[in-house]
Amino acid sequence: MQTGGPIAATDPVRFPGPIPDATDVVIIGGGIAGIATALYLARAGVAVTVCEKGRVAAEQSSRNWGWVRQQGRDLDELPIMIEALRLWEGLQPELGEAAGLRRTGVTYLARTEAQLQAYEGWLVHARAHGLDTRLLSRAELDRTLPNAAGWLGALTTPSDARAEPWTAVPAMARLAADAGAVIVEECAVRTIETEAGHVSGVVTEKGTIRAARVLLAGGAWSSLFAGNAGLSIPQLSSRATVAATEAMPDFWPGNAADDRFAFRRRADGGYTLAPGTVSDFWIGPGAFRHVRSFAHQFLRDVTHTRLHPFAPAGFPDAWRTARRWRGDEQSPFERMRVLDPAPNLRLVEKLQRDFAETFPALGRPRIKRAWAGMIDATPDIVPILDETPIRGFFVATGLSGHGFGIGPGIGRVMADLIRGRDPGHDLTRFRFGRFSDGSPVTLGPTL
Ligand SMILES: Cc1cc2nc3c(=O)[nH]c(=O)nc-3n(C[C@H](O)[C@H](O)[C@H](O)COP(=O)(O)OP(=O)(O)OC[C@H]3O[C@@H](n4cnc5c(N)ncnc54)[C@H](O)[C@@H]3O)c2cc1C
Repeated sequence: MQTGGPIAATDPVRFPGPIPDATDVVIIGGGIAGIATALYLARAGVAVTVCEKGRVAAEQSSRNWGWVRQQGRDLDELPIMIEALRLWEGLQPELGEAAGLRRTGVTYLARTEAQLQAYEGWLVHARAHGLDTRLLSRAELDRTLPNAAGWLGALTTPSDARAEPWTAVPAMARLAADAGAVIVEECAVRTIETEAGHVSGVVTEKGTIRAARVLLAGGAWSSLFAGNAGLSIPQLSSRATVAATEAMPDFWPGNAADDRFAFRRRADGGYTLAPGTVSDFWIGPGAFRHVRSFAHQFLRDVTHTRLHPFAPAGFPDAWRTARRWRGDEQSPFERMRVLDPAPNLRLVEKLQRDFAETFPALGRPRIKRAWAGMIDATPDIVPILDETPIRGFFVATGLSGHGFGIGPGIGRVMADLIRGRDPGHDLTRFRFGRFSDGSPVTLGPTL
């Protein structure tokens, strides 16, 4: 079994462009949030440069399960997610097989009456938003997914989709570059520059770029970057382990999960498997400072949360990672080109056991590769999509473990926000100041 991130240094798409002296918009971070925003800005005729410290989509945006999911979403995110699915469909002919988009549905399997009731409760929201979500009875489930797990029923949304993250996002970057975006890999942004409270550019490891608008889309690094600019973003990172099986019979075409593990069909004929609910949190100085904001998240799922006091060296919230630096100093971003946490192999072993127990006819799956990603989460598990108190400095971060599917929607919304246009959705819930203006931390009725 191979371990480590799914993007290899030899993967074909590379973006080695030189940096310009000036541009309209600089985007910090080449994950799906940054790349999708660059795509929609470039298509609107805006000069945009994406600076990525490592490789495009080498962090969360290539390591995820590939679920493109409306089902169980936070209700304020749902309208953007519904739009995102339409955008994925529209991009599909241009992205081609790299996107691997298939509308094969999302299904949540219930082992208990309580789970089934929670799923039933979500149907009200699904109907209000015109989704095709419905309950599956035990008999229906037995016909489509014969198993020994004793599921009582399920909630399913057939219009939900899956895609192939490690090829879809670089292909999206190629579309952005074709539309005129400059994308520079191995180019960490160290600091922003300001004049009279307005952003005026960025200092990168390769030089300075003047720009009146800058977007921070740095995933798990956003809080660290913002802190150096004097802005507070409460953000916690948790390690999530994933495994890809070797090719196996197509027993289920879409995405599904119960309370033990999640599985989805992959374009290469295998399945992506992941432990559904276990999270490894490393408590560093950033998380420690905001521990009260995150308390309800821990309490809600205390049995599946593992707390670790020391993050590995170089991680964004490790105790010894620098918190302050100047533009002429090396920053933590260029010291770690790709955040590539080691997968939890005990969980991979458990996944194999759980799978074999659930699907005895298929037996123990052979794992071809295991990896992990650091999920960045906000206290209310929805993103920040806003301009900060520094005029012209925007943030799209904290996608909280479900930012891949909604990525094109986030990109379209941020492109309009940055251009000073109506983003077309109510973004109040996603405002930058909500963690510092005395508002209570509220969690939506997600599943
Ligand atoms: C294991 C796992 C499973 C998941 N499953 C799903 C799923 O099934 N469906 C779903 O919708 N979502 C899922 N997610 C969540 C989803 O992957 C993320 O929400 C999304 O990819 C975040 O995108 P991003 O662009 O914000 O961050 P990232 O993809 O992490 O990108 C941020 C980029 O910014 C760069 N960067 C940071 N600081 C700097 C700097 N100073 N200068 C230059 N570059 C910088 C980093 O190198 C990185 O490439 C999952 C995540 C994980 C880890």
